[in-house]
Amino acid sequence: MGNKIDIETLCAEKGLRITEQRRVIAKVIGDSDDHPDVETLHARASAIDSGISIATVYRTVRLFEEAGILDRHDFGDGRSRYEAAPEAHHDHLIDVETGRVIEFVDPELEVLQRQIAERLGFRLVDHRMELYGVAINRKD
Ligand SMILES: [Zn+2]
Repeated sequence: MGNKIDIETLCAEKGLRITEQRRVIAKVIGDSDDHPDVETLHARASAIDSGISIATVYRTVRLFEEAGILDRHDFGDGRSRYEAAPEAHHDHLIDVETGRVIEFVDPELEVLQRQIAERLGFRLVDHRMELYGVAINRKD
């Protein structure tokens, strides 16, 4: 879920000017399905174009985030992590020991959240669900 999204096309749709460096960063984000932070994105982008600075990555992810192309997450370790804004909604389970992020969708949970909002007098327009866990049977 959420991977291989063509961010360059999304940029064009949003009217964002796409420079060569932004194109590389967009491709790296679109190809990542592990919710990387800025340092990881910079490592991947500078492997393709060594001229890309971490400041450029910071600026570019901010720009993409403001345009709604990118979702920023804080999974409790104080680092902002990014993924291309998914076409289909999903929630996250974070392995607190390894930092691995698992994506899931649960239709019953989606309904329940809407019902809770309605009970409180609201029509739900968005939500974030993050589960934090320790693997019961770690296979390593
Ligand atoms: Zn995700």
